[in-house]
Amino acid sequence: MSHKIRITKIKESNITSLDFNNIPLGTTFTDHMFMCDFEDGQWINPRIEPLASIPTHPAAMALHYGQAIFEGMKATKDATGVPVLFRPEKNAERLNFSADRMGIPQFPETLFVEGLKQLVALEQAWIPAEEGSALYLRPFIYADEAFIGMRAATHYKFIIIASPSGPFFTKPIRLYAETKYIRATNGGTGEAKAAGNYAAAIKPTEIAKSKGYDQVLWLDAHEFNYIQEVGTMNIFFKINGEFFTPSLDGAILNGITRMSVIELLRSRGYKLTERPITIDEIVKASQNGTLEEAFGTGTAVGIAMIQEIGYKDISLPLSDENPVSQMVLDTLNGIKIGKLEDEFGWLVKADHSFNLSEQH
Ligand SMILES: *Cc1c(COP(=O)(O)O)cnc(C)c1O
Repeated sequence: MSHKIRITKIKESNITSLDFNNIPLGTTFTDHMFMCDFEDGQWINPRIEPLASIPTHPAAMALHYGQAIFEGMKATKDATGVPVLFRPEKNAERLNFSADRMGIPQFPETLFVEGLKQLVALEQAWIPAEEGSALYLRPFIYADEAFIGMRAATHYKFIIIASPSGPFFTKPIRLYAETKYIRATNGGTGEAKAAGNYAAAIKPTEIAKSKGYDQVLWLDAHEFNYIQEVGTMNIFFKINGEFFTPSLDGAILNGITRMSVIELLRSRGYKLTERPITIDEIVKASQNGTLEEAFGTGTAVGIAMIQEIGYKDISLPLSDENPVSQMVLDTLNGIKIGKLEDEFGWLVKADHSFNLSEQH
């Protein structure tokens, strides 16, 4: 399917304002955004325009009832300098999974990928070259209908913005296993990448930070024992030579980095099991010396080595030798910049020969 995307280019790029050696986190945006409106039961008017604020009606439903979902992905450049996306069709699929849970209309997956490609092709000068750096892409949908009342909105906006990012957590992180607040439970919205999940996580995360930790390690809502995930990441443990990650239980976000790491580890001959994992078991493995490595996985951070887990009044230290985690990180980063072969077929080129004659 081909989609006609109208492109209006900015008069003068803001790229000169960016210091590529010192990229601030999440505050710099590229020149353009992709936009599409949902009206009269369909997504219409796909376009790329100069990035600008959008007037918002004070009754916009997303502000009151929280119909808002998002995706997070990254564009890099391969060895020949061609911009590439990492498994964008998976993000398209997950966006629609989230949309379904939140009562938001489905977005055409081909248009999602096409919009990304065209935006990235247009903004390719903003893609930082350094390994571990990338152009972060944030597709999202929110209800912009002005209406006070509880029902699904009939007007939405789909937008993609882009923000250059340097290497994220370069330091190993410290996690705080939360035993009062929860992130999600079965039947809730934990499996959806919904803005509201983050709203509920902000206060517990601030508390964890005030205790000197970087992120919350979320436990299950019933027993505060089964490990779910970390702030914006899924989690993996290496115990006695084997890898374990919590199985997708209906409350855990199905990370694309997670699924890629599972595939990679298995291809390298590691035994990897998806199953329920308790914090008790991790405490035991730590105490008997079999807990060898632990890391978080997510698009924003890539692979974040875990240096310590705090749980009640116990502190579980982890080794700062993480050879396999480091291999995973180097392999993912290497594939993304074309230093290593794309052996799993994860990359999609955004080298659009799209029709710039449509400029206005
Ligand atoms: C986005 C996200 C992840 C990581 O997913 P990726 O697709 O790997 O980026 C993990 N947990 C939560 C809660 C998330 O929102």
